[in-house]
Amino acid sequence: MDKLDLLVRNGEVWTPGGFVEADVAVSGGKIVALGKPPVLPETAGNVIDAKGKKVIPGLIDTHTHHRDPGFTHKEDITTATMAAAAGGVTFSVGMPNVNPPTTSVEHYRALVAHHSKNAIVDFNHNPSGTVPREVPGLAKEGPIAFKIFMVKDTGRDYPHMPGIGINNNGELFKCFETVGATGLPLMVHPHDQDLMDEIEGRYWKDENRSPQAYAKAYREHDGIIWDTAMATLFRMQKAIGSKLHILHMSTPEGLAMLRRAKDEGRPCSCEVNPWAMFLGTWENVEKLGPYCLGFWVPPAHVDALWEAINDGTIDVIGTDHAPHTKEEKEKGWHDMWSCPGGEPQIQDYLRLFLTAVNEGKMTLDRLVRISSYNAAKLFNVYPRKGVIQPGSDADMVIIDMNKEEVISNETTYTKVGWTPYDGKKIKGAPIRTILRGKTVMEDGKITGKPGDGQLVSPLK
Ligand SMILES: [Zn+2]
Repeated sequence: MDKLDLLVRNGEVWTPGGFVEADVAVSGGKIVALGKPPVLPETAGNVIDAKGKKVIPGLIDTHTHHRDPGFTHKEDITTATMAAAAGGVTFSVGMPNVNPPTTSVEHYRALVAHHSKNAIVDFNHNPSGTVPREVPGLAKEGPIAFKIFMVKDTGRDYPHMPGIGINNNGELFKCFETVGATGLPLMVHPHDQDLMDEIEGRYWKDENRSPQAYAKAYREHDGIIWDTAMATLFRMQKAIGSKLHILHMSTPEGLAMLRRAKDEGRPCSCEVNPWAMFLGTWENVEKLGPYCLGFWVPPAHVDALWEAINDGTIDVIGTDHAPHTKEEKEKGWHDMWSCPGGEPQIQDYLRLFLTAVNEGKMTLDRLVRISSYNAAKLFNVYPRKGVIQPGSDADMVIIDMNKEEVISNETTYTKVGWTPYDGKKIKGAPIRTILRGKTVMEDGKITGKPGDGQLVSPLK
């Protein structure tokens, strides 16, 4: 065996077959062996004792808003990936609503170059699929997927600035065809803009633009603006046969549509966002207002999501990490429609889900699948990512299931300096994040450097 760079000893290591007690040997950034002495040598350049701890594959987040370029007062690639490393994420994929939006090969290349200098963890970026003539060229650059919003280009600078929305079924159909021809998944934020215009118009007529009104409008009739959009998406997917990945899944009807598509063997998948599981309660809409919106998710819908996580309907967690400054959020108390939706998520979500594991809501095995393994398979980076086995990148998170913490604005790495979970008690936390054999976070301190991250593209 080659000289080892790192040996992670005595941990309980996740494998697709279950947790095993093993040492993990790392050389040249790759896992070279899994086993016990004397199979493995006793010494290595660096030995980490993980006794009593779980060792899981580094998390993959296919939905992170890095905000860079264009919105670097909210976040930049370095701060976003510091927060990622602090949260156990070793592979973070950005979204195209940056400025300029990522609609061309030129912009995608510039973004990759910018990430290569500044990212602390591995990265990619989902370009926009709105410009059909650019799609084939973009696909050759190595993204894992394309992303579109089904929204009107409202002219607002965020999040739905010109160039990233498709609000016309003819264009949407063309997008399914052009992206489908590349073989890559199409990620869609489902949204029925015409229906939303009607629904929100009724609130505005009453001069009601409060966070509560906004929350209710988006969830009117159990989320009808999401469901009619998803019905269109699933029908188009069926026609084209291409890969469809639904973002922000949060309605029972949407889950039923996805189950049907999966039962028919169609290549459809979805993400769930941590805000749907842990943040979007009515209590928080009242208490945190703009700081918890995004979207309200009623208890019956949260229950449906837990069921769908546990029965395998939900494929992955996408954080939808979407930082905004407090100044931007404060406006929402008076007019939620003038306030950007979304909030920081990437540093806290593993802790929240680990707490849910400790509460018996899901197993740790299921969490590993939806936070890493499934995404690696779905976006074709498996087995380079998403698993701890010989030949894979040595991306690991060491977990202390008994560690109790209080989430705090003080320890957050996102540039905006706040988290919607401030004050929340958790049990279960990542204590070390390892990226290709290098520790990038230890006990909450970032030890990775800008430039440590590399582009990860689908395997050939
Ligand atoms: Zn998003």
